[in-house]
Amino acid sequence: MKIAILKEGAPGERRVAGTPETVKKFIGLGAELAVEAGAGEGASISDSAFVDAGATVADRTSVIAGADILLGIQGADPVSLNGVKPGAWLVAGLNPFGERTRVDAYAGLGVEALAMEFMPRITRAQSMDILSSQSNLSGYKAVLDAAGEYGRAFPMMMTAAGTVSAARVFVMGVGVAGLQAIATARRLGAQVSATDVRSATREQILSLGAKPIFVENVTGIEGEGSGGYATEMSAEYQAAQGELVSGHLARQDIVITTALIPGRPAPRLISDAQVATMRPGSVIVDLAVEAGGNVEGAVAGEVVTRHGVKIVGHRNVPSRLAADASALFARNHFNFLSAFWDKETGRPVLPDGDEIGEAIRLTRDGKVVNQRLLG
Ligand code: NAD
Repeated sequence: MKIAILKEGAPGERRVAGTPETVKKFIGLGAELAVEAGAGEGASISDSAFVDAGATVADRTSVIAGADILLGIQGADPVSLNGVKPGAWLVAGLNPFGERTRVDAYAGLGVEALAMEFMPRITRAQSMDILSSQSNLSGYKAVLDAAGEYGRAFPMMMTAAGTVSAARVFVMGVGVAGLQAIATARRLGAQVSATDVRSATREQILSLGAKPIFVENVTGIEGEGSGGYATEMSAEYQAAQGELVSGHLARQDIVITTALIPGRPAPRLISDAQVATMRPGSVIVDLAVEAGGNVEGAVAGEVVTRHGVKIVGHRNVPSRLAADASALFARNHFNFLSAFWDKETGRPVLPDGDEIGEAIRLTRDGKVVNQRLLG
């Protein structure tokens, strides 16, 4: 049983899908580990640290030769996988909708492609959920990125020269990233408020010491859509939300937006006219920028200034905390594979009909088999 840890090829990707910790754990299960040279560099893990953990380090061709499982953060370029063993598993965040031609190419190579972001949101799979592990870090980093761009302090400070007032931070979208953003902004001493369309988040906002800002007079979805996700809101709700948020936004110093709707473009939460009402020097961080953006004018990969307000649109925010993001992603991989480890054959087995396997398996026996992709 050979597991290969691939070096990421996407521009700006600093994470790695395995760490010395997970290498040791896989070896403990009886596997042989091969790490592509330089794979850990962006996450401050040297080749020698992988060797010390018991792995071999070699080039791409050698690590994939005879490998039963290939681990990645993002899906590898199919061309770089020539020579892979038919039936080998490719396990990574494969961006199945965005990289559909790659999925077809994986089928053509005969690999079984398993998309970690399709992990179902069930209790059993929580420790395998890359969306949660990475969003947590994104929410934290978004607040630090905002603090870095902001020309003022977050906490209230009483100094001999006078008082500095606390920053007002507004978090829009209170999923995993939003909750962590609230907690981080609170720790930095800001006055925090937050909004979401799921009413279940109200208690969570309060429990973190922040103020909930909710549309009260229009029926929303009231609870949660399937899998705990939000769905698109009615035009009436969107109008009421726009009005409520307009009044609130003009008084904010920092806004962090995190709203996503699975399989749809990110909802537009802030218009250019609303940006114009904010005080010059304010900062907006749009964590949904790569999904179409919550904020009008946000540009993926850039920090732009509109009406004196900085709009931060960093791509791949988890990669900006590459060491921790890698450690958590690598554990998600280990938790997944070890949960299905078959002691007798010494390898993981995904039984037919298992909810997790059915959800994440994209290709098998040369074909695309995932229902979400086949529509
Ligand atoms: P997400 O990344 O899909 O979206 C972020 C947030 O944006 C969500 O809270 C969503 O309700 C909100 N949103 C969408 N449209 C909005 C709008 N128009 N205005 C304001 N907010 C809007 O969500 P997520 O972080 O993946 O978490 C969603 C839920 O799933 C949470 O309750 C989380 O606890 C739950 N979850 C469960 C598991 C599990 O059981 N295994 C794992 C992870 C998350």
